[in-house]
Amino acid sequence: MQEIIEIEKTHTVLTKCPVCKDNNLAYSNNSLRNDYSLGVCNTCNFKYAHPRPKIEFLVDYYNSISSVRFYKESDEKALKDTKKLNRMILKNHPEAKNILEIGCSTGYYLRGLKLRGFEVCGSELSEDAVNLAREWYNVEVFASEFPPPSHLNKYDVIIIHHVIEHVMNPKDFLEQASNYLSDKGIFIIETPNVNSMGIKLFRNNYPVFCPPGHLNFFSKSTLEKVLPENHKPLESKTASANGYVIYNCINAFLATINLKGAIDNKISKKETIKSNIKTKASNNRKYSYLKMMYKFSKITQTILYPFFFLIDKAGLGENLSLVSRIKKNNLIKN
Ligand SMILES: [Zn+2]
Repeated sequence: MQEIIEIEKTHTVLTKCPVCKDNNLAYSNNSLRNDYSLGVCNTCNFKYAHPRPKIEFLVDYYNSISSVRFYKESDEKALKDTKKLNRMILKNHPEAKNILEIGCSTGYYLRGLKLRGFEVCGSELSEDAVNLAREWYNVEVFASEFPPPSHLNKYDVIIIHHVIEHVMNPKDFLEQASNYLSDKGIFIIETPNVNSMGIKLFRNNYPVFCPPGHLNFFSKSTLEKVLPENHKPLESKTASANGYVIYNCINAFLATINLKGAIDNKISKKETIKSNIKTKASNNRKYSYLKMMYKFSKITQTILYPFFFLIDKAGLGENLSLVSRIKKNNLIKN
């Protein structure tokens, strides 16, 4: 990549903003987890983790994360959890048939959308997740960042759900993804909101700031800017309704009152356990703990629904949700 210069073996420094391509970048003294700091583009206000890990470093990092993140859910839950996605698809592309999810993990959402009658397909870099997608949910998943070139221009909907914050170059990533869209095809993107209530309250202690996992931190404006030139936003809003806000706030609060060390130890312990889908007993314990925390968070959030409704209206919701389509005069592709 021409935009970066090497500073050491595992990391590089950006010299151009990945969103607006300007070179007006600054690195604050704000330290994030794992010795990263918060970089900011003074032109478009895009925020990112500094320095940037190299691909080999990221591959090692992801390989070291435990498969505790993966668990099987019922068809009933998959249907329930894809209600919002289904609504967004019907509203923005009523004739849509083919769906691709890039970075689909175990294919849980694809399972729900398949049950709703769509033709679905995914791509995913984690081989454990790809195997589980086939075994658990019977969905077709390519073990690569994108499907093979024979699938270009094929999909009516491309879902990019909590992926763009992880990639090295989000603009290039979306441009490549866009080549897989059919005419009138749409992107449905979700990513954490860097202007969320949680981040405003807890700043760098908020779990969203977790490099080298998360590398890019978008606002409503920078997320629209990172879209390919030929895309037009159709829907752009913040969304709190995923149950994780309270969970993240509790973790951030513990970190703020100096229990951060203990939490980091717990997290790194969890992350250094080598991926092994057969260590079920240990995974089940962690899964039960996470599931309990998540349930508590979800119930609290449901009770506080009017509050979170207003938070979303004010643009302070936990996540950004963006739907975009290729502009009409760009429909003829090369
Ligand atoms: Zn910029």
